[in-house]
Amino acid sequence: MNLRLPSRPDLADWTAAGLRRRRPLRGACMPPRVRIDGRELLGFHSNDYLGLAADPRPAAAAAAAARTHGCGATASALLGGHTDLHESLELALARHLGRDRALLFAAGYLANLAVVTALAGPGDEVWQDRENHASLIDAALLSGARLRRYRRSDGPRPSPSVAARLICSDAVFSMSGEVAPISTLADRAREGGAALLIDDAHGFGVNGPLGAGTVAAQGLGQADVPLVVVTFGKALGAGGAAVVGAAELIERVLQFGRSGTYTTALAPPLVAAASTGLDLVALEPWRRERLQANVRRFREQATACGLPTVEEAEGPIQPIVLGDGQRALTWSQRLVDEGFFVPAVRPPTVPRGRALLRVSLSAVHTPDDVSGLCAALALIARTEAGASARV
Ligand SMILES: *Cc1c(COP(=O)(O)O)cnc(C)c1O
Repeated sequence: MNLRLPSRPDLADWTAAGLRRRRPLRGACMPPRVRIDGRELLGFHSNDYLGLAADPRPAAAAAAAARTHGCGATASALLGGHTDLHESLELALARHLGRDRALLFAAGYLANLAVVTALAGPGDEVWQDRENHASLIDAALLSGARLRRYRRSDGPRPSPSVAARLICSDAVFSMSGEVAPISTLADRAREGGAALLIDDAHGFGVNGPLGAGTVAAQGLGQADVPLVVVTFGKALGAGGAAVVGAAELIERVLQFGRSGTYTTALAPPLVAAASTGLDLVALEPWRRERLQANVRRFREQATACGLPTVEEAEGPIQPIVLGDGQRALTWSQRLVDEGFFVPAVRPPTVPRGRALLRVSLSAVHTPDDVSGLCAALALIARTEAGASARV
């Protein structure tokens, strides 16, 4: 199957179908509480899994970097935007993940565009899990390679007759919270002579020894997974991204990845915040331990209440699958009434009939915060069941 860019619906049709989305207006960062549209709520919405976004230490590092190196990088990395701060973060990332080399990007979206377009082009094949993040799908479309999407149960089957083969997968799928079978993907890549890219946006800082990520958590290294994309906007609480891996592949991405070449380098304050965040990930294992305890607590209580959780979701993303988009919106609004902020995610972000509440847990939630959310969800479920019984 070869995909085209998603069609652009008419805005009036989109609105009539109830699909028009809006951006909730958020106040200052004070996790786990959040002010949304003027109302203070307990937030279960963010990817700040370790509570580092509001930590004063990355903020102080960012402020110092702004004073010494400027608020902006002033140029593309190849034209002088790559500072000594950038260089030392690349070295620290390579060391932390046990890889040859790292290369910074202004965003994870741009990192995925660069890696895929540097390694695949017309006549090549890019194999992707059906649930992959939009940035990987868009990258394959931009590359001009043949995009092949596989079901998790089938896996990729690269064809030896094609010049270059690339397999791409999220490590932790951003909506279902499920974890990819990375060692199976590594075997398929090896057998098919394909390169393998794992996007660990949601596992970096959370999974594996010292938060080194999902690939390390599965006991794998650079020989199995030559390229990993990590992002700094989630567990590190900052922004930006890097691709880490085998030196010769990273060099290709530096030379041919246009979304790295033709954009201003990652801003120095974000480089400094990400560097400090990376240190804190290693120095403060209690954050990962508290996060895991919250995940266990949520799963136990949500399952005990009979809520439709995802069995395979092992980490901080704990969706409640409600099926219908309107139902997900209603539950989300009812949670606001109870004092909680949990966004509803609807098609086309998730497949039709798989609309969900995207609960995401953090190290800074207390056990009572988690129990309170479960109790509110259970109340909403009972009220709904009571209402339909009366119809
Ligand atoms: C968030 C995310 C990205 C994009 O990263 P940004 O730094 O926010 O651009 C890429 N891949 C996955 C799986 C993500 O969840």
